[in-house]
Amino acid sequence: MIVIGAGPAGAAAAIQAARAGVKVVVFDKASYGRDKICGDGLTPRAVGALNELKIDLEDAHHIDGLRMIAGKKVRELPWPETSRFPSHGAVWPRRRLDAALIDAAQEAGAEIRWNSEALPLLEDDRVVGVTVDDQRVLAELVVVATGAPGQVARMLGANRVADEPFGIAIRSYAESPRHADRHLEACLTLKDQQDTWVPGYGWIFPAGDGTVNIGVGALSTMKDFKKLNLNKLIESYRALVQDDWELGPNLERPRAWRLPMSTQKRVGPGWVAIGDAAGLVNPMNGEGIDYGLESGMLASDLYVENPATVSDRYDQLVGERFDSFLRTGRRFSFLIGHPWILRSGLRLSVGTQSIANITLSVMGNLVDSETPGASGTVLKVADKALQIADPVLRKSRAAA
Ligand SMILES: Cc1cc2nc3c(=O)[nH]c(=O)nc-3n(C[C@H](O)[C@H](O)[C@H](O)COP(=O)(O)OP(=O)(O)OC[C@H]3O[C@@H](n4cnc5c(N)ncnc54)[C@H](O)[C@@H]3O)c2cc1C
Repeated sequence: MIVIGAGPAGAAAAIQAARAGVKVVVFDKASYGRDKICGDGLTPRAVGALNELKIDLEDAHHIDGLRMIAGKKVRELPWPETSRFPSHGAVWPRRRLDAALIDAAQEAGAEIRWNSEALPLLEDDRVVGVTVDDQRVLAELVVVATGAPGQVARMLGANRVADEPFGIAIRSYAESPRHADRHLEACLTLKDQQDTWVPGYGWIFPAGDGTVNIGVGALSTMKDFKKLNLNKLIESYRALVQDDWELGPNLERPRAWRLPMSTQKRVGPGWVAIGDAAGLVNPMNGEGIDYGLESGMLASDLYVENPATVSDRYDQLVGERFDSFLRTGRRFSFLIGHPWILRSGLRLSVGTQSIANITLSVMGNLVDSETPGASGTVLKVADKALQIADPVLRKSRAAA
């Protein structure tokens, strides 16, 4: 099996397959220890996936819950105890998280080739391996874990769907005396330089190592999205939280990247796409690490089960696990693309304890259509309502 991309998704696939005795080669165009622009936040669900992969989380900063801020309203909520996920999250700077994962893949027996850009090798319609520096390497399955769409996606027809939403986000690091705080902090009331409400949030994720990760993210459904200046947005968010967190200067220039939330295709003959390459990012919180880990493990399990049926089975099972939830999230993103809906929705979202709990479940990735209780019911009802409103919301997208 060949894996293109040594991020969390590719590493998870490599660990799972190598531990089952499969010969795995992973190619990454970057060098060992590469960074990835990210908020570094891990929800309890992501911690659960890391536990499943038997990754030691000692190096990660333990997180007890979420602090949500909307205007002057602040609510601190602990991660709920559920039998489905651990009751804590974490912050783990990507340089270290990704190194821990790929080291585990190597320990399990996978071969990792750094500084090696790999492109799919197509014979007729089938991917039969990759080309790397004019060299051909053949494999029964190529796992595409290349992150947000680029050349590999273009070659496979796996770009994002043009009229579906996507996200962009920017982050930096700063020193703070509150670096060991045990809550992820999210500010839901962001406005851009034109005073337009931004569907997205600003965050401070304490890393426990003297620093915090500070960033802002926005959805493409917002009014005047093309004019949004992320550098200005992070600057104004920083000004807002500067005193509370006693932030030092930026430790690096703020850097931005895309969050893909759809794909035209996630499988084909001889290949499957996982993680960001499969558009698996949650539009409601921008989380992608968990989906990368889960889809990577799933693809390898199915390959081990039966290499002949892996593509079809993966498409079906990844769909059953994530499609309806992520579709609800995309519909939701069109809803909050309307500034007045966003404004009134935000007040509501943290206004009362019970609604704040539901917001926590949604932002903390603790809820899906299988979830029992109020959050699960709300999601189901919201999905029905959003399904009916969807065509109108898309048409009137950000026109308000
Ligand atoms: C600013 C920002 C903040 C975010 N915050 C969070 C957060 O707090 N929590 C969270 O869960 N998610 C967050 N996300 C999303 C998260 O970063 C991604 O979902 C996650 O990195 C996806 O993992 P991946 O393995 O699919 O892809 P990546 O981590 O992008 O890895 C892809 C790898 O493929 C390699 N590659 C690409 N093309 C080739 C090629 N042709 N040949 C060889 N190698 C190749 C790249 O070098 C890279 O190493 C954030 C994203 C952004 C932009």
